[in-house]
Amino acid sequence: MVVVMRPGAAAEEVDAVVSRVEGAGGEAFISRGVQRTIIGLVGDVIAFQGLNLRAMPGVGEVVRVSKPYKLVSRENHPDASTVTVGSDVHIGPDTFVLIAGPCAVETAEQTFEAADMAKAAGATILRGGAYKPRTSPYAFQGLGVKGLEILAEARERTGLPVVTEVVDPADVAIVAEYADMLQIGTRNMQNFPLLQAVGGVRKPVMLKRGLSSTYEEWLMAAEYVAQRGNLDIVLCERGIRTFETATRNTLDVSAVPMVHAMSHLPVVVDPSHSAGKRDLVLPLTRAAIAVGADAVMIDVHANPTQALCDGPQALYGDELAEVARACRELPPLLGRTVSS
Ligand code: PEP
Ligand code: MN
Repeated sequence: MVVVMRPGAAAEEVDAVVSRVEGAGGEAFISRGVQRTIIGLVGDVIAFQGLNLRAMPGVGEVVRVSKPYKLVSRENHPDASTVTVGSDVHIGPDTFVLIAGPCAVETAEQTFEAADMAKAAGATILRGGAYKPRTSPYAFQGLGVKGLEILAEARERTGLPVVTEVVDPADVAIVAEYADMLQIGTRNMQNFPLLQAVGGVRKPVMLKRGLSSTYEEWLMAAEYVAQRGNLDIVLCERGIRTFETATRNTLDVSAVPMVHAMSHLPVVVDPSHSAGKRDLVLPLTRAAIAVGADAVMIDVHANPTQALCDGPQALYGDELAEVARACRELPPLLGRTVSS
């Protein structure tokens, strides 16, 4: 951290900053320029943040040099991480993973059909929501525990590990019992008690980016999970809120290389929720692979017109096969092995 004093700041003002920093156990190195004095701080940045240095007389600005997120930063962990889901699906820099399944678990039959479609296409993780965080309180809210049981049965049938969302800290234990990876949805990215709760379980977490969150806010949310001891986190870019209304959200393709540079965590892209339209899922999948995504997550449904949730973006089987072909053929061009 660097404190830049105002031009002409008095010597006592500089001394006051130094003694406050030293009082917090830090060291202060003063560099006097012609125009202004700069004080370099060495020590615990978190402790310095509580000192309110910016408000002290003579202080112009306080510039953070190191990242506020530590455990998930690239700075502190130069090698990209690989997160293992189930017994042997690896999400990381060397592999490419296709995750597919229904948006919501509606019935056992519908879930098994979608799971079979995912398996037939070559997906290696099954998605499906038992707890649905819906914008409208009148919309289908998910089957809850019954949905988790159906997902467990779908895992038995297909052999695919399951990712499913948890929306309430009180449900984390039960969801962790059934799921192979816990999903935190976009609307809950900054639900700090929920992040702390999933930080306490021994299952990987998929953290979706908040609707209007910056990369730093997203990584700070991941830091909440990591701080509680769970470093098995994958991030998921699922489109952000922009002025454009033709698509449901705008897929931020820059997020993938940017966040890979800022963090060691794997980055998944969800083209289905980004687009909200099935016709866009294939081109956005190709874009995601091209910018270095470690996995994509795709909605499928045997009968999208009857889907209780997100039918317009759910793929039919033949469309999923086409997406799966892109997921097989393109990643090897970029040096990745495709998970199978
Ligand atoms: C989902 O993946 O089912 C979902 C609800 O997505 P999001 O949180 O990105 O809207
Ligand atoms: Mn959905």
